[in-house]
Amino acid sequence: MAIRKAEPYKIKMVEPIKLIPRKERDKKIKEVGYNQFALKAEDIYIDLLTDSGTGAMSDYQWAGIMMGDESYAGSRNYYNLEKSVQDIIGYKYFVPTHQGRGAENVLFPIMIKEKGQYVLSNMHFDTTKAHVELKGGRAVNLVIEEAFDTETEHPFKGNFDLGKLEGFIKEKGVENCAFIIVTITCNSVGGQPVSMENIKGVKKIADQYGLKVIFDAARFAENAYFIKKREVGYENKQIVDIIREMFSYGDGLTMSAKKDGIVNMGGMIAIKEDEELYTISRSMVVPIEGFPTYGGLTGRDMEALARGLREVVEEDYLESRIGQIEYLGQRLIDAGIPIQRPVGGHAVFVDCKKFCPQIPYNQFPAQAVCVELYKEAGVRAVEIGSFLLGRDPETGEQLESPMELLRLTIPRRVYTYNHMDVVADALIEIWKKRETLKGFEFTYEPEVLRHFTAKLKPIE
Ligand SMILES: *Cc1c(COP(=O)(O)O)cnc(C)c1O
Repeated sequence: MAIRKAEPYKIKMVEPIKLIPRKERDKKIKEVGYNQFALKAEDIYIDLLTDSGTGAMSDYQWAGIMMGDESYAGSRNYYNLEKSVQDIIGYKYFVPTHQGRGAENVLFPIMIKEKGQYVLSNMHFDTTKAHVELKGGRAVNLVIEEAFDTETEHPFKGNFDLGKLEGFIKEKGVENCAFIIVTITCNSVGGQPVSMENIKGVKKIADQYGLKVIFDAARFAENAYFIKKREVGYENKQIVDIIREMFSYGDGLTMSAKKDGIVNMGGMIAIKEDEELYTISRSMVVPIEGFPTYGGLTGRDMEALARGLREVVEEDYLESRIGQIEYLGQRLIDAGIPIQRPVGGHAVFVDCKKFCPQIPYNQFPAQAVCVELYKEAGVRAVEIGSFLLGRDPETGEQLESPMELLRLTIPRRVYTYNHMDVVADALIEIWKKRETLKGFEFTYEPEVLRHFTAKLKPIE
């Protein structure tokens, strides 16, 4: 039998967490209107709300924090980060930003030349869509159909539907398209990867029509790992080589470094070789994020990121990272719980349309499971479904999301297999009594971004 591998790190500093009693959990979640965003973090035992900025830095990164050079301009850490970007991503230019949305805020107005232009993506992340729309663009999602069927096993559910992509450009006219965004991995459909073949296909179409390709690169290393594991011809390649090949098919990227940068805050724009685009980005970043050699980051932040980028490409790290998520997913599959398959890069997505079919979309089935999971074991997850989607801005009708998902997002290097077991055990208990779950209705519903501040009550 193959030896089961443990996490490839040992723990040198601990942060205590505790499970408050069941009665208190019931009380706390009721007090915050059954909205887990409003819980205090200290009332949570295992926090799977997001993998963004929640990772644990290594001793090497923490040592780098002490090497922060806080010069206003030209900090040595900026140059260290530049070297990491050039070595790992393979792009000539970069501009640091405070996080991913800072990069979007700077780059998108430069790339969207006219109001009403389309931005074509496999699937826009929510802030990405918001920034496209704020700059007058229109966000279009062209991911393959398989992405929406949780049971179909497809190795690259984040792929573009290339036929749809070309069809769209032809139908609307290339002058009405601003650029293409390739989201790796595709967060919004379950951390699903995009294959190298598909990326190449996108590039070919882009070249044919003279469109630029920009990566939304938050989880670039996880995407490369999936290519190595699932795509023919890449099994013996180094992760760094796969990453450099992926990015070679693009013109630039925006990155939230809070994901695969393994830092708590940070982001960047990187540009392959287009000097003009770099020059404009570099001047636009000044009034928005800060001087181009810090862009909203401290010297120590940039050093931590320079080191994080080198650590995230290590194969034993990626194997353990993805392995933890696969382990949790497999335990749920073994218990018969419906999840998005195959398991994605940063999270397990439970299909709550199937988990509790008795709850209609407008009573938020995934939120019901989310609340129950907190009550059961103090675990915080997040609903990605109709509660998040909201209402039609014109009619005020509740929209029906194509999927009702509960996302169990795993922070990097933070939890162990034991924590995964606690989460799996709790969900399996809830699965056994799933018929008793009830839907929710609003007691307070704000007009914008209601997901974060709404209050709910169970429907009796
Ligand atoms: C997190 C994320 C962003 C936004 O980055 P922030 O650092 O949260 O501002 C953009 N795109 C994707 C795919 C993300 O996961």
